[in-house]
Amino acid sequence: MAREAGFATRAVHAGQGPDPHTGAVVPPIHLATTYAQDEVGRTRGFEYSRTDNPTRRQLEECLASLEEATHGLAFASGLAATTTVLLLLNPGDHVLFSEDVYGGSFRLFDKVMTRYGLSFTAVDPTDVGAIEAGITPTTRLIWLESPTNPLLRIVDIAAVCEVAHDRDVFVCVDSTFASPCLTRPLGLGADLVLHSSTKFIGGHSDVVGGAVLTSNDDVAAKLRFHQNAVGAVPSPFDCWLLMRGIKTLELRVIRQSDSAMAIARWLDLHKQVRHVYYPGLSEHPGHALARKQMSGRFGGVVSFDVHSRGAAQVALRRLKVFTLAESLGAVESLAELPAAMTHASVPAEMRAHLGVGETLIRLSVGVEDVDDLIADLEQALPH
Ligand code: PLP
Repeated sequence: MAREAGFATRAVHAGQGPDPHTGAVVPPIHLATTYAQDEVGRTRGFEYSRTDNPTRRQLEECLASLEEATHGLAFASGLAATTTVLLLLNPGDHVLFSEDVYGGSFRLFDKVMTRYGLSFTAVDPTDVGAIEAGITPTTRLIWLESPTNPLLRIVDIAAVCEVAHDRDVFVCVDSTFASPCLTRPLGLGADLVLHSSTKFIGGHSDVVGGAVLTSNDDVAAKLRFHQNAVGAVPSPFDCWLLMRGIKTLELRVIRQSDSAMAIARWLDLHKQVRHVYYPGLSEHPGHALARKQMSGRFGGVVSFDVHSRGAAQVALRRLKVFTLAESLGAVESLAELPAAMTHASVPAEMRAHLGVGETLIRLSVGVEDVDDLIADLEQALPH
C-alpha cells in the first residue's frame, strides 16, 4: 500500500491484500509454528513463528504504515513492548521519564528494571527546561506519553526531541492515548513510538497487545533481535483481531473524540465537578499545543475531579452505561478511579504531587450515543 494513500485507506489495506492462494479478502490466520524448508537453511521467508509469522508480519506492516514508520514490531502486550525497548539499554544507563506515566510502566521501571542496573528519574514532561536539566552523561532515553495518563497533559514532542538529540539521547513516545490516528510522534522527531494496542488500536476489549514503530534501521534490527531472543510475541489470532480492529480505528477515534469533547464541555458546567482535564477545552494549558500536535481532535479519554472521595465512589457505583473497569480506548465506555485502580502502583506521595487523588475519575468514552452517556453521568453525579 502506497504511503501516499490516506490514513483510513492504509488502515484497511496496508500489509493485507486478498489471499494470493484463494482470493479471500480477509487474510487467513497462520497458526503454524514451523515452516517447511526447501533445503537445510533455505526457507520461503519464515522458519519459526516466534521469530516471524505471516499474520504478525501483516499486522506489523499495517502498524508501521499508520505511524509512517519503516519498521513495525508487535508484542504480546504494551508492557512486553516496553520491556523489550528497555532491554536495548545497558547496566549503568539512565532514563528520564514523564512523571505521570502509566502506573504499570512506572512499576516496570521502579520494581523490575532498576534490578538490572538501569536508573530512572521522573520529570515534568511539559517543562522542556527541566528535561534538559535532567539529562546526565549516562542518560540514553527519554520516555514520554502525550496525552499523559490520567491527567491528559500535552507534551511538546518536537521540543523534547530537539533537546534530546542535541545530547545524543533517544526519545520513545508511548502514544497509546493519542493512537496513530491523532498524533504521529516519528514525524515530530521521536526515535520510537510505542502503543498498548490493547486500547484504541484493538478497540474492542478483546485482545491484549503492544507495538513499537521506528524508522531507525539500527534500532529496528536490535529490537527485532530482542523480540525473538526474549520472545514476548503475540499469537497469530491476536494479530488478526488487531488487524480487524484497525480497519475501523479512524471511525472509532473520531466518534470517541467528538463524544469526549461534548462530555468534557458538559462536565465543565456541572456544579459537582471541581475540574475537568481534557486537551480539547480551550482553558486546558496544553490546548494550543494539542491543536498543533494532534490531528484536529483530542482523544476519547476525559478525567475530572469531583468535590469529595465519597462523591467519586457514589458516582462510580451509580454509573450504568459506563462500566467500572480499568483500560480505555474500546467501543464500550469505561470509568475508573486511577488512584485505586490503574495508578495504584504509583507511590502515594507521587500521586499527591501529581494531583491524582481519590476524587479523580477517568472516563474512557466509547461509541455509544453521546446523549445516553451524558444522561448516565447526570444520574450518577450528586445534584
Ligand atoms: N501505556 C499506557 C499509556 C497504558 O495505558 C497501558 C495500559 O493501560 C500500557 C502502556 C500497558 O499496556 P498493556 O496493558 O497492553 O500491557
